[in-house]
Amino acid sequence: MLKAVKFGGSSLADAHQFQKVRDIILADPARRFVVPSAPGRRHDGDDKITDLLYATQRLAAAGEPIDETFGKIFARYTGIRSELGLSTDIESALAKVKKDILGGASADYAASRGEYLNGLLLADYLGYEFVDPARFILFDEGGRFLPEETNDRGAFLKTVERAVVPGFYGAKPDGSIHTFSRGGSDITGAIVARAIEADVYENWTDVSGFLMADPRIVHNPAPIRTVTYSELRELAYMGATVLHEESIFPVRQACIPINVRNTNKPEEDGTMIVHEAEDYTAHCAITGIAGKKGFTVINIEKDQMNTEVGFACRVLQVLAKHGVSIEHMPTGIDTLSVIVSGSSLPPEKRDTVINEIMLTCEPDSVEIHDDIALIAVVGRGMINRVGTSARIFTALSSDGVNIRMIDQGSSEMNIIIGVEEAQFAAAVNAIYYAFQY
Ligand code: ASP
Repeated sequence: MLKAVKFGGSSLADAHQFQKVRDIILADPARRFVVPSAPGRRHDGDDKITDLLYATQRLAAAGEPIDETFGKIFARYTGIRSELGLSTDIESALAKVKKDILGGASADYAASRGEYLNGLLLADYLGYEFVDPARFILFDEGGRFLPEETNDRGAFLKTVERAVVPGFYGAKPDGSIHTFSRGGSDITGAIVARAIEADVYENWTDVSGFLMADPRIVHNPAPIRTVTYSELRELAYMGATVLHEESIFPVRQACIPINVRNTNKPEEDGTMIVHEAEDYTAHCAITGIAGKKGFTVINIEKDQMNTEVGFACRVLQVLAKHGVSIEHMPTGIDTLSVIVSGSSLPPEKRDTVINEIMLTCEPDSVEIHDDIALIAVVGRGMINRVGTSARIFTALSSDGVNIRMIDQGSSEMNIIIGVEEAQFAAAVNAIYYAFQY
């Protein structure tokens, strides 16, 4: 068994968190490759090291003094080092970072040092080798990540016994440091998991994986034990995020499961994200519910629409011409609804878009409804199972929720329901409780 384990910023925010991380790593000899983030917030109102590094770089670039901001960074790392009783020469590494930033280093370089310095401390603390990801995580000149070249270059990791590989960054062809987007250490963890052909990619954070619904809407929702990559994609698209979206791809390709775990509750199993799973709970056809507000529905009606070749295409062309991207498109015999995000159709664009649809498609009517929330009910257990939608719609109607739109994806793994924003919370609760018995 071989595992790549990534720890997020809150898992490594101070010396006490470092101790928890070491206990977790030592508890399982398979945890041989460790990817740390930079120290995150220790409490509400605290600073994230990455934010402080960006701020320092901005100050330096503007020719302003950096000592106060950089002093906070210095204090965090030297504090962790001393509290853990390590002898790492973190001062020299910090001095170099400061000098580089004052010498005009890029924002990417500055931000990447958060993970780099944390990696130095963690490698020392665990007695693991330190491997700089700039050696193998590659971007092109334009900053696009190169997955295959990275995987080939990263093959040397297989010959390494145990290593700490800082998250979040790699290098461009000229050797300059380049970072992923924020939260990108998740991607590094997945890249390392793929390169070492890990059996599992463990992603340790401050929640025990995914919950069946948003806990701000449903009281104490049940955790999701197992979710497939495709289900997760549907849930994440609708706002359920724990992992950086791009982190899925390297491990998905290699069929490596991701286990999202809680550093503060290591006794909990967390959520397993897998390629395929049969084992949905027998009584429950759904895996999770996610939703978002802020959609707009354009309802178009035309008698005999079903016989008119190219009608939908003409509607879509008008929207494309105005840069309005489409989220869903349920159709009836003589009706077509297009759901777009509200912000992509601001008031000043509306009249033009409607007029153009009227001119090019000659419909009987076009109506626009704002403030629509979409709810995705996702579950591999729905496929080939009768009665799931009946259960959802019965629950919604008994709770007085008016359904504005229904769309079932062709994967049969997903039912999307549109409701008025004011009924969003009631709808999510109705659906959740319809599947809890
Ligand atoms: N430290 C970086 C950030 O704050 C990357 C990460 O934590 O994954 O975004």
